[in-house]
Amino acid sequence: MAKIELIQVKGSSFFCSGRLSVGVYKQGDTVILVDSGIDSDTAKNIDAAIKAAGCSVAAIINTHHHPDHCGGNNYFQKKYPDLRIFASQFESVFINNPFTHVLCFCNAAAPSTGLRNKYLEASISVVTNVITPYEDQVIEINGEQFRIVTLPGHTFGSIGIITPDNVFYCGDAIFGEDTFNKHGVLFYTEIQSSLASFEKITWLQIDATVFYHGGMLATISATASKHARRMLETKDVIAQIINVEGTGLPIDLVTQKIMNIYRIPQSEMSFALTRTCVTAFITQLELEKKIELIMRDGLLCVIEKK
Ligand SMILES: [Zn+2]
Repeated sequence: MAKIELIQVKGSSFFCSGRLSVGVYKQGDTVILVDSGIDSDTAKNIDAAIKAAGCSVAAIINTHHHPDHCGGNNYFQKKYPDLRIFASQFESVFINNPFTHVLCFCNAAAPSTGLRNKYLEASISVVTNVITPYEDQVIEINGEQFRIVTLPGHTFGSIGIITPDNVFYCGDAIFGEDTFNKHGVLFYTEIQSSLASFEKITWLQIDATVFYHGGMLATISATASKHARRMLETKDVIAQIINVEGTGLPIDLVTQKIMNIYRIPQSEMSFALTRTCVTAFITQLELEKKIELIMRDGLLCVIEKK
């Protein structure tokens, strides 16, 4: 694994080089991390970069529970017994019980072996400071104030963090350009609140943004608007798939068509993730009264609402 460097955004706000832009905020000889990498090996590399800067880790703020964001918690919590881990109430349920995350992709039944990997199941860690649910707020860590911005959509309890330097760490609320271009269907679990979060991001008065997937960018509103447009396009594609099939289409067949249109890799995990996104769009179309769910010959199908 390549050595991790700390890249300065502004003042005390940094992020780690490499595939995952873990946030680092320096406070004297300690740091606060925004997310923690996917596993212990990544965490160890991050820790080496922190140590090289003459610091130790005092706290982690998790933007959400996905294993690539909290999979390093376990390493840091073992290494630094006084470590504080902050997460929103919804996300802390999953971080404290990482097996619940993989259950989301298999109807809460025992997961098949294809789903049991570090991308869906983080090592266990314990959130020590639960952030009040669903409210923008300021939290104080070691005498400095950090703004917590609620950004539901990617997950229900996702948050962004704005440091005292006015640098915004957005987690996966929106993605950097490479990730945006690589994935035809971006991972969002609730469409309406995602659109509201994109709008909210557009209006943030911040000096720079760090994407967990994609490094930093000075201005954010164009990227947020691009996400909203993509989301509406994907919703239209799914509506069209459903509407041409007059007798109703099983949800797995909608997923199949989406996987083929967007050339999504044919793996069990990709199918499970895509089906989750498709389900979010189907729920949105149902809320908009454009489709309905019906049972047909033992299959749950979606059909255009007349
Ligand atoms: Zn995520």
